[in-house]
Amino acid sequence: MRFALVNNERCEAEPKLKGLCPYCHAPVIAKCGAQKINHWAHKSLNDCDKWWENETNWHLAWKDKFPKEYQEIVMNNDITKEKHIADVHLPNGLTIEFQHSSITPQERLSREKFYKDMVWVVDGTRRKRDFSKFLKGRTTLISHQPGVINIYKFYCSEEIITNDWSSSTVPVVFDFLGMPKQGDLVDTRRLPLYCFLPQKVQGQACFFEITRETFIYNTVNNGWQIFTKRQMDILEEAAKFVK
Ligand SMILES: [Zn+2]
Repeated sequence: MRFALVNNERCEAEPKLKGLCPYCHAPVIAKCGAQKINHWAHKSLNDCDKWWENETNWHLAWKDKFPKEYQEIVMNNDITKEKHIADVHLPNGLTIEFQHSSITPQERLSREKFYKDMVWVVDGTRRKRDFSKFLKGRTTLISHQPGVINIYKFYCSEEIITNDWSSSTVPVVFDFLGMPKQGDLVDTRRLPLYCFLPQKVQGQACFFEITRETFIYNTVNNGWQIFTKRQMDILEEAAKFVK
């Protein structure tokens, strides 16, 4: 995690600093090495949030694109007494969860139910062949017009993306860029994010492209819900004319 409690204040990891986990209050150790972005680590995750996963640099770097005060927010449900650490939770009510590891449909759904207004950001580089399959599986559903962004329909016989994520009830954003090393040649098609919508057309998943900057700006500045709603409306309208 990026933040631990040190004398009751949220602090980033620094060498030799000792802290407590804001969720389970177990001691956590500051990890400040060359390999990984500075972070805090539990000695054991046994008593911590069962949804918490050991974080990759991808995970830590994504969170850090958002204002510090919105990262790693402990959220409570007063009725069920359930509590979890949201990766990013914004004052407008939106939660953003970054997912590197595979996740079962049951666990995915329970998180969607808990956070309600949320968006997933998925590490699309975890499995090497997913990106090429993704490129093969898409067709343009609505082409570009002024003020309207491209929406694609996604066909894929091997169901790489649809397998884990197609039944999602919230938007799912795929990041196929990952964490390229300096000097790596990057396929420019990996630069945008690809946001899958919960709505389907003829049973097929649909998505639109969005720049990283627009995604971050919209989520932080209240625009995300309106933005995705508009894409869904366009999609539903277009679906009427798809044979
Ligand atoms: Zn903990």
